Amino acid sequence: CGIVGYAGHRQALDVVLDGLRRLEYRGYDSAGVALPDGVGGLVVERAAGALTNLEKRITEADEARFTGDSGMGHTRWATHGAPTDRNAHPHRDATGKVAVVHNGIIENFAALRGELEGRGVEMASDTDTESAAHLVAAAYADGPAAGDLSAAVRAVASRLEGAFTLLVTHADEPGTVVAARRSSPLVVGVGDGEHFLASDVAAFIEHTRDAVELGQDQVVTITRDGYRVTDFAGADVEVKPFTVDWDL
Ligand code: GLU
Repeated sequence: CGIVGYAGHRQALDVVLDGLRRLEYRGYDSAGVALPDGVGGLVVERAAGALTNLEKRITEADEARFTGDSGMGHTRWATHGAPTDRNAHPHRDATGKVAVVHNGIIENFAALRGELEGRGVEMASDTDTESAAHLVAAAYADGPAAGDLSAAVRAVASRLEGAFTLLVTHADEPGTVVAARRSSPLVVGVGDGEHFLASDVAAFIEHTRDAVELGQDQVVTITRDGYRVTDFAGADVEVKPFTVDWDL
């Protein structure tokens, strides 16, 4: 329902939680965050219910681990799978290296799930979203997109049917968040030494008012230093920057 991504010079956790709070008005049933820990892993926390449940869990889990300068968060409005901890986003692949958050509905999830289960993948949730995490992990591990998160996300996005804003982070690419969209909103916030991704500019306008709206079937990669937008085939596309001129 609400999505926030960040890569910059601040503690991503603060920016992401603050952004999710600004999207609370949309309603949600669970929330979660994922941040690369910088030493080859991801820290992930999720909780059914209010954002305060998530915050409590992060504090209890040892907040010192959540110090990365990139990451992403999600507030979920369940469409596939009950509003429980295990169905809360982010969803991960089996190695725990890839995390995905998603707004919308992946219509062909049953076929994708079947394909993955046929390869021996065990699903850890009842969502339509989880398949995307396993598919990105597989594309990143082997084949033409190996070792390139943006390419892996493009390859997977072009296989998804339905409506989605998908944010992906990989333990081996700290400092980078990749997003893909089709028929679901996604805006990039362009700051000074920091970039934001969100389903709604409200999530980042306290930090920057320079924004770029993504078009249909596009992928964007943000780092602290910049952003790059392509179509699902990997060709650069012309972006339309705008300034958010309304008041907080
Ligand atoms: N379809 C996904 C789910 O049920 C995402 C829902 C949302 O947009 O929050 O988990």
